[in-house]
Amino acid sequence: SLKVGFIGLGRMGLGMASNLQRKGFRLTVYDVNRDAVAALVKLGAQPASSVAEASRGNDIVVTMLPNSAIVLDVVGGADGVLASIAAGALVMDMSTVEPEVTDRLAATALAQGKSLVDAPVGRLASHADRGESLFMVGGTAADFQRVNPLLEAMGSTIHHCGEVGSGTRTKLVNNYLAVVSCQLNAEALTLSQRFGLSLEKTLDVIYGTTATNGQLKIAWPDKVLKGDIAPGFTIDLAHKDLTLIVNAANSAKSPMPIGAAAKEAFSTARARGFGGNDFSAMVDVLCDLSHTEKPRLKN
Ligand code: NAD
Repeated sequence: SLKVGFIGLGRMGLGMASNLQRKGFRLTVYDVNRDAVAALVKLGAQPASSVAEASRGNDIVVTMLPNSAIVLDVVGGADGVLASIAAGALVMDMSTVEPEVTDRLAATALAQGKSLVDAPVGRLASHADRGESLFMVGGTAADFQRVNPLLEAMGSTIHHCGEVGSGTRTKLVNNYLAVVSCQLNAEALTLSQRFGLSLEKTLDVIYGTTATNGQLKIAWPDKVLKGDIAPGFTIDLAHKDLTLIVNAANSAKSPMPIGAAAKEAFSTARARGFGGNDFSAMVDVLCDLSHTEKPRLKN
């Protein structure tokens, strides 16, 4: 059967790797955090003590790491994944990174007779835990077929977006809307609070018009509007994504004035110590700044 390496067992990777292990894949796992490795070993995975050891001899190596710099190092570095896997093997990077990083690593892989697939992840860590993630995949048709069984074990919605790099780019377009609508909602509901309007009635009106959005309608009622600002998806990560998005848009000569403003709003929230909270807490930050009561649904 397929031999799979998995590197990066954080909020997302832990649940994703657990689903693979439970569904019969033979995993070798690595993370700089030993506790995370131990959790997977409990489920029957093989521990590795380095990136190279988690890569060598495997057919597919999955990476789910924090950011571009770490992915460049872990996948493309001297003792990295690409240097350690055999010709014909495949690396699937599922982290959210700069498109240029995906492109560069894919070119390196190709030159060595290896494959790279980018498959960033949509939805929240709670979905990853339940094997209900959404994946945006970039790669050749043949490579997509090779990773599809793994994706089916980790998620419930799989999109092949096009050639390598198109998964990463689709993820940035998606997260742009998700993160910016969060800031828009924060401004709108803070205004509603300042006006002294009923939160329930205001939402009732918005939900019945085209002004609504998925964050406000689906995500917020179970998070900040209930007083729950534990992450989910943190303000730090949202700020990271906006930074990636604005930079990538600038490189593509695609202007993003609202994205740039939203990025600084998230930067303000981080400066005020909210970075580790759920991104729906942007409305709490704004209400604080406006000396206004935070919006909370009654029961
Ligand atoms: P995380 O910080 O919780 O996990 C990253 C893991 O990588 C950690 O366990 C860390 O110890 C490990 N790590 C760091 N450097 C390493 C190295 N050199 N070698 C081995 N392991 C290393 O992050 P996360 O929330 O799991 O997110 C992972 C990626 O997925 C990010 O790119 C993020 O933007 C993206 N993402 C996150 C969410 C979310 O809701 N959390 C949703 C979709 C996508």
